[in-house]
Parts: sequence; structure tokens; C-alpha cells
Amino acid sequence: MASKVLVFCEIKKGKFKKGSLEALSEGKKIAAATGGGDVTAVVVGGSDAKDLASSLGQYGASRVLVASGDWLADWNSDAMTRAVVLAAKAEAPEVLFISATLDGKDLAPRVAAALDVSLGSDITGATVEDGRLVLTRPVYAGKTYVTLKLSGATQVVSVRPNSFTLETDGGDAAVEDLALDFSADDLKVKVISVEAAASEKPDLTEASRIVSGGRGMKGPEHFELLETLAEEIGATVGASRAVVDAGWRGHGDQVGQTGKTVSPNLYFAVGISGAIQHLAGMSTSKCIVAINKDKEAPIFKVADYGIVGDLFEVVPALTAEIKKIKG
Ligand SMILES: Cc1cc2nc3c(=O)[nH]c(=O)nc-3n(C[C@H](O)[C@H](O)[C@H](O)COP(=O)(O)OP(=O)(O)OC[C@H]3O[C@@H](n4cnc5c(N)ncnc54)[C@H](O)[C@@H]3O)c2cc1C
Repeated sequence: MASKVLVFCEIKKGKFKKGSLEALSEGKKIAAATGGGDVTAVVVGGSDAKDLASSLGQYGASRVLVASGDWLADWNSDAMTRAVVLAAKAEAPEVLFISATLDGKDLAPRVAAALDVSLGSDITGATVEDGRLVLTRPVYAGKTYVTLKLSGATQVVSVRPNSFTLETDGGDAAVEDLALDFSADDLKVKVISVEAAASEKPDLTEASRIVSGGRGMKGPEHFELLETLAEEIGATVGASRAVVDAGWRGHGDQVGQTGKTVSPNLYFAVGISGAIQHLAGMSTSKCIVAINKDKEAPIFKVADYGIVGDLFEVVPALTAEIKKIKG
């Protein structure tokens, strides 16, 4: 039976999160694999949400349901949950995709609980077998993968950013209003203020290239080396917990079990030993390059390319070579 797919598309700073667009593209594939079901996007946001909504057609949506208003501009878990649950009840989809962004990880379990259906969290793979969704997700710090088949009429699935390919070959989407049955006064949560980090760089969880530094960097002043390399290849700089604990970088930069989970196309681990807790956050990266002076460092076990050497020689040489190639 053709599956109806609903995809929640999150807006941040006036544009859709890349992870949401990837979820939409994947939703289109899933719908096609089950015989061509509808793909509907649901968007909740400020007054600009409606203008942004029509662009979702190219990523695979055939319809977009939009709830907009100034009072919905900032993320509010209560408002988002109520709106998405409302859309899910009206649409009755077989699959509801939510990108596992920071806010998406908050939303997905709330929606699944409110609908009283099963949830697949932080999924990195999806296929269809006998008309049913089969999901994969890494467990035990990325050491192995589990395969999930969710029961119930609607399956809520949070999808790890950078796990699915973004397709832009869709068509036009019809934009419709999602009439809400609640107002700002009904919300149990009030957003008082939002203090966003000043960085213009993509968040680590969405970055397609990351250059991370570990204790081997020897001090915060040497992160300039990584910033320069990152600038050349369009990457975001991350860090191990040892670096964050030492106060060399902010906690927002930490990759790992107690930091961010990332899945970029390219991950540089520079002066990072590769402790299991660090691997937990980055082992699903598509290509891992490790630079470490200790050839026995565990990071080399997961690396696609390993450079054994002093990072203070290797990183500047690599950056210079990339500059030369770029002209
Ligand atoms: C409950 C718990 C949660 C944790 N969560 C996280 C987490 O989220 N993220 C995380 O990263 N860690 C986490 N940790 C900590 C983790 O166990 C490691 O202690 C940490 O990852 C080590 O960081 P590191 O690799 O930068 O430092 P080290 O293990 O000290 O490694 C430094 C590396 O740099 C290399 N090096 C030194 N000098 C040079 C040089 N000049 N050139 C090249 N290489 C050099 C060394 O050979 C070494 O391999 C957690 C630990 C616990 C117990």
C-alpha cells in the first residue's frame, strides 16, 4: 500500500534546516518505494514561514501545511508539539519524519508520545521491505547498528542530519494553511528570550565538513591552525571533550557521547586519540582523516586516511597544499 509521508520542516534564522530538507527528499523516496504515496511537509514558524514554504516542492513535497504568526517565530516545544500532532491527526500518515536537530530531538518523542505511537530515534538508514519501513541506527557508540521495524499505524522517525542525500529535482508544492486549535495563551511554555551564538558557520550537527582538534593541539592559541584549514575547505571547527574541559573551546564545539553527534562527509580528527566516547559522536562520518603522532592511537582504527606525524607540521603543510590546488 502506498505510504503517506509527513515531514516536519524546521525553520531557523529565516531558512529551512538542511536536515529537514534531507528528510523531505528521503520521504519522497520512501513514498515512491511503497508505490507512490503523498509527501506533505508541515511548517510552523513566524510570519515568513508561508513565503518560505513554497520552496519545499523542489525537495519532494507535493503539499505544504503552514501555521505561521509572530508568536510562533521562536522555537517553543509546546507549540511545535501541538501543531505537529494536529497535522499528524489530520493527515494520518504512515510515516512522520523529523530531522534529529537539537530541537527535532526534543520534538520527536513528544509527538510520538502524544500520538501514542512508536518512535525510531536518530535514524541513519531507511529502506522499504514488503511495503514496510526498515530503519537502521547506530548503537553502542557506533560499534554496531540495529535494524528497526516499528509497529503501529503511524511511525515517528527522527533522522540524523547528513545521513540522507538532498535531492532538488522535485516540482511545485501546494501551500495550505494549517488552522491551529490553540493560541499563545494556551501554551504551558513561554519563550522569554533566545540568545543565539554569533557564529556564521553551520552548526556542527549540520556541517558537511568538520575539522576537530584534541588535546594534542596543546593550547587554545593553536586552534588558529585548524580555523585556517577549515576556512580553506569550508568546514566547521569541532573539539574533543578534553579540549572543552580545559576551557580551550566552548561546549557547543564538543563532539562525542556527551557532546554533539555529527555525520559529515569529511571529518578531520587532529591530535585526538579516538576514545570510545569521542567515536560515539563521529564514527558515522563518511570519510575520516586522522592526524596523530602516535601510530597506535585508536582513532586510526576508524580512519579512512591516517597521517602519522606532528600536527604542527602536517596541518600547515596540508593547508598550504590545498591553497595551492585552489589557486
Ligand atoms: C562519561 C564520559 C563521557 C565522555 N564524553 C566525551 C565526549 O563527548 N567527547 C569526547 O571527545 N570525549 C569524551 N569523553 C572523554 C574521553 O574519554 C577522552 O578522555 C577524550 O576524548 C580525550 O580527548 P583527546 O583525544 O583530545 O585527548 P587525548 O586522549 O589526550 O589524546 C591526545 C592525542 O593527541 C596526540 N598528539 C599529541 N601531540 C600531538 C602532535 N604534536 N601531533 C599529533 N598528535 C599529537 C596524542 O598522540 C593523543 O593521541 C568522555 C568521557 C567520559 C567518562
